[in-house]
Amino acid sequence: MSEPAYPDLQLRADGTLCHLLSLDGLPRATLERLLDAAQAIRPQALGGTALRQKLAGHSVCNLFFEPSTRTRSAFHFAATRLGADVLSFDVSTSSTGKGETPLDTLRNLEAMGVDCFVVRAREDGAVAALAAGAKPSTHLINAGDGRHQHPTQGLLDMLTLRQAKGADFSRLSALIVGDIRHSRVARSDIAALRTLGCRDIRVCAPASLLPDAHELHGCTVGHDLDALLDGVDALMMLRLQRERMVEGLVPSLEQYFVDYGLDERRLACAKPDAVVLHPGPMNRGVEISDAVADGPQSLILQQVSNGVAVRMAVMLELLGDARNRQDWVSA
Ligand code: ASP
Repeated sequence: MSEPAYPDLQLRADGTLCHLLSLDGLPRATLERLLDAAQAIRPQALGGTALRQKLAGHSVCNLFFEPSTRTRSAFHFAATRLGADVLSFDVSTSSTGKGETPLDTLRNLEAMGVDCFVVRAREDGAVAALAAGAKPSTHLINAGDGRHQHPTQGLLDMLTLRQAKGADFSRLSALIVGDIRHSRVARSDIAALRTLGCRDIRVCAPASLLPDAHELHGCTVGHDLDALLDGVDALMMLRLQRERMVEGLVPSLEQYFVDYGLDERRLACAKPDAVVLHPGPMNRGVEISDAVADGPQSLILQQVSNGVAVRMAVMLELLGDARNRQDWVSA
């Protein structure tokens, strides 16, 4: 997959963020600023009231053309806890079913005063295409486009890693396991890990679930999970994206678990303090065992909590008054 020219759309000439479309090409300073802000916001993210006026007067619309549990809910809570008006637009009962295009849908909602759209789309690049057609004062956040990018998931994964392992990513060994080929999460994570200076990125999947080699430049790539576990600090497990697959890429789910599933025996072969991440939804017994998913090394629910803080930080970056940034970061 070649990376379209998103940096031009998402970054203004002065380096500030206009949309959040991709972590690929996002400067390290911007990435770290968002992570710092999310970390500072975290005490308020799960229900505090100190930030409830920050986005008063703004209107945020969740426009999801694919199913979602965590991302959609986290964006909803993030916008609400910042005091924005929030519309969770139900695509399934909307006029998109009568043939109205996503861009016409967006323009109609813009005409009602929406100035921030959180968009999940089936097609790679679809959110950037909408950003290109939106008003200059409108901000788009990519909540996952096809196999391409899921930038806020990448940010919350980096925040979770930083909390567990510290900010020096150059010392981190990260292993991403599973359906890399169809995973926008893997693409965002790999981009962010590279930008933050991680030098040991390992990826493991059957050959049928790996992307083109150029996408994995600089990564150690293997098919034998047991051979890649030694010295690993963080295991990032991925779901088999069966909705994006043609038949036959995996022989059977049982065999997949035998070859690529993370169980306690395998986890014990990584570093003793290794942590486990998964973006959800999990297929228990396919890519991860119950004992690992619910065990002491799992940070899966911490990722979910961090997801609210990260989305608040992104919205404040896009919509908040930059002059008051210190004010909200220290709230
Ligand atoms: N929830 C993530 C996504 O939307 C991961 C997944 O679906 O497997 O990409």
